[in-house]
Amino acid sequence: MDYSKAFRLDGKVALITGAARGIGAAVSEALAQAGASVFLTDVLEGPGRETVDRIVKAGGRAAFAAHDVTVEAQWEAAVAACVQQFGQLDILVNNAGIETAALITQCEVDDFRRVMDVNVTGVFLGHKHAIRVMKPGSSIVNLSSVAGIIGTTGHLAYHTSKGAVRLMTKAAAIECAQLGTGIRVNSVHPAIIATEMGTNFIKHFVDLGLAPDYASAETAIKAIHPMGFGETRDVASAVIFLASDAAKWMTGSELVVDGGLTAA
Ligand code: NAD
Repeated sequence: MDYSKAFRLDGKVALITGAARGIGAAVSEALAQAGASVFLTDVLEGPGRETVDRIVKAGGRAAFAAHDVTVEAQWEAAVAACVQQFGQLDILVNNAGIETAALITQCEVDDFRRVMDVNVTGVFLGHKHAIRVMKPGSSIVNLSSVAGIIGTTGHLAYHTSKGAVRLMTKAAAIECAQLGTGIRVNSVHPAIIATEMGTNFIKHFVDLGLAPDYASAETAIKAIHPMGFGETRDVASAVIFLASDAAKWMTGSELVVDGGLTAA
């Protein structure tokens, strides 16, 4: 293997969901820097197009499409638009996700269903429509979370959804391998990252009565990360690796990016 090229993504095309902001935007910028053409999708059109402009100004190849991951027809349209724009689809990053916070006895069934719809059904539809057009050597990377490995108070729906993504990854990896598709499927499991969702997670600790105020919630949550809080680029590096040919024998694996949280 030529290690100067093994982690590069030149000539590859990536579709990233939930790419307007946060981890999805950072992953999109990173994949573009690594040489991929990136097709960003999100329900947030304005911020999505701004992220594309940033990538293009920095010399990358990028395009945007409005796309709600819960709607199958929009998946068909997004994958078709990506292939039309860049000729193929080699990397799918199932990143779009939402969370909700409530004690189990207070959790509204509609909130539970919405989390499942975006975080689980959306990821399933991504596999369904990407695998149909992907060639051998392609890679799917699913954003699960440490929340897919361990539980916490007040986030039952989110934990359930991220656990499902962890197992969906393994089932898809085995099916793709056994059918000889040459497509790899892996999951990434970050701990708290300072995005809108990460900040909300800390706020919810106060809402749930687990901390008196934001500062004490932040201190308590930071304390369970042996290396402190991570950054979006820490997650982006893991995605580049799993998407690259350097990971050509990795499938069905779960890459934990958590500053040591789950090692304790
Ligand atoms: P974020 O809320 O900042 O961004 C999520 C993006 O997904 C937004 O741009 C949003 O518009 C988009 N989105 C939401 N619903 C959508 C839908 N139905 N269709 C298309 N797009 C939709 O969150 P983030 O922190 O960047 O999280 C990205 C992923 O990483 C999520 O799957 C999240 O669960 C996971 N994650 C986040 C953290 C963290 O601490 N931030 C930790 C572990 C895992």
